[in-house]
Amino acid sequence: MTMDTVDRRTLLCATGLVAGGLLLDAGVAHGLTPSTAPASSPPTPSEAWAKLREGNRRWASGTSIRPHQDLARRAGTAQKQEPYGVVVSCIDSRVPPEIVFDTGIGDLLSVRSAAQTIDPLVSGAIEYGPAELDTPLIVVLGHQRCGAVAAAAHALHEGTRLPGDLHHIVEALRPAYRRASGNVDKMIRINTADVVAKLKADKLFVPRIARKQLKIVGGYYSLDTGEVTRVV
Ligand SMILES: [Zn+2]
Repeated sequence: MTMDTVDRRTLLCATGLVAGGLLLDAGVAHGLTPSTAPASSPPTPSEAWAKLREGNRRWASGTSIRPHQDLARRAGTAQKQEPYGVVVSCIDSRVPPEIVFDTGIGDLLSVRSAAQTIDPLVSGAIEYGPAELDTPLIVVLGHQRCGAVAAAAHALHEGTRLPGDLHHIVEALRPAYRRASGNVDKMIRINTADVVAKLKADKLFVPRIARKQLKIVGGYYSLDTGEVTRVV
């Protein structure tokens, strides 16, 4: 090996490092990190559901990547949001949609109520996504051992009236209670399917579903495994 070879190799190596450094700096300067790269075309309803299923598989298996949770994403979504899903789920502290579907800032519109029951105010919030932002997917998510459903089942069984506005939740769950034969887990699934059916009949959603611009699915989240399974 001559000195000349060593010098050339050293020079190439150094140039590579410099070039790499410059590229890195340029990337930072222009914000060209993956989370702020120009958005591709919005996902179809089926693609949106597949993304959420993939995210849930990561969460369930302990391999969450926690995407879209950095400062670049915050900056990239500060002026505009393009969420690809509306998740209608329970208030339960163990079922935060962004975590169980391994998503981040700007990915989901989260609409939460006790046992994901709906009334006109909640329906209006759900409508906002598809009607105003062209969100292609709504997921109604029930969950294992739902305390709201269990409390409603108990109140309906005993014929007691819960205080304050809690009795409204009980009344919203009465149809599912009647068909569940006292089985709380069955009641959770029936209620989820009922909410899906109500949303599918929403006059703003009917034409979108017919044009295949919107999909509405019902899921059941297992507190034990972290997995979401399809109910309807
Ligand atoms: Zn619940």
